[in-house]
Amino acid sequence: MSEPIKPIVDGFGRKHDYLRISLTERCNLRCFYCMPEEGVKLRDKSEFMSAEETIEIAKVFVGLGVKKIRLTGGEPLVKNDAEYIIRELGKLPVELAITTNAVIVHRFIDVFKEAGIHSVNVSLDSLKEERFNDISRRNYFKQIKDNIDLLIENGFHVKINVVVIKDLNEDEIVDFVTWTQKTNLHVRFIEFMPFDGNNWNWDKKVSFKEILAAVGLGLGKDNFIKIEDAPNDTTRNYKLVDGKGTFGIISSVTNPFCDTCNRIRLTADGKIKNCLFSAYETDLLSAFRSNLDIESLIRDAIHKKEKERGGMPEFSHEDVLKHNNRSMITIGG
Ligand code: SAM
Ligand code: SF4
Repeated sequence: MSEPIKPIVDGFGRKHDYLRISLTERCNLRCFYCMPEEGVKLRDKSEFMSAEETIEIAKVFVGLGVKKIRLTGGEPLVKNDAEYIIRELGKLPVELAITTNAVIVHRFIDVFKEAGIHSVNVSLDSLKEERFNDISRRNYFKQIKDNIDLLIENGFHVKINVVVIKDLNEDEIVDFVTWTQKTNLHVRFIEFMPFDGNNWNWDKKVSFKEILAAVGLGLGKDNFIKIEDAPNDTTRNYKLVDGKGTFGIISSVTNPFCDTCNRIRLTADGKIKNCLFSAYETDLLSAFRSNLDIESLIRDAIHKKEKERGGMPEFSHEDVLKHNNRSMITIGG
């Protein structure tokens, strides 16, 4: 009989069985809150995980009890070998999911189906074409909207990620929730988070409470209800009383969910980040290339995880400014 798997556990007893792999730092959009205005420094291809390395490292995590893998980036679908990686990871005994900006999703519908992907997260921060194109500094709004429809028509569970920013798109909270009335999708409002090069400021965030208040004011506070949250879910979920879809709020800034965190991040250049907000990284790729034991490195990296928000429980503006972290596009959201 084979030995039971010893799970990856941190110093606070949290079991980690969810791996988010960034496939690339490149992207076909330039969302200002994610990609620094000057872009990201181009590095040699050899500094990043190849398709084979990504797959082999993922297998090690699966052997340590990882049950879910999400592909992200940058834009995961612009990675040259994206199709091959998705198909190979689809053969592993995990729930495979993806977060994409949907610009080229139409080329991947069959690949997703064949790899057993059921749920696709798509980022869309505005329902107004001009505004969306301003935020993303490109002109793909119509293509993205068409691809969201295509995903729904093809039976995928679609979650729309909306980063809510003061004086930018908070006036669209009600429009996004109204979208869930007749359409079976899940809208998730995400508080604006600080990363290098995105000019974050406490004043630009729209809090959990403010988002709920806006829904109540616009649609009536008796017209939506709280629904159950899945275990380890970072989203607090709601639905309109007569809604086909649902909506939720991810409040990493004002109301974090660190106590149930089960996430491990692997960057495109093969570093483990044990928390989105942590500057601490473990170089797994170099160790893998030197045939070293990466299992102990993985366990050690997670064991060192801080209790809350990368060691900034207060999350004051000063803490955040002092803290050296990468830009979101180079971490993988
Ligand atoms: N390119 C894909 C996409 O946009 O969905 C995947 C990568 S993107 C970095 C993953 C998620 O991170 C997106 O939903 C994006 O909106 C979110 N994100 C990026 N920067 C953020 C920030 N500063 N605050 C909150 N969410 C952010
Ligand atoms: Fe690209 Fe996604 Fe970042 Fe926008 S949020 S720049 S689509 S990686």
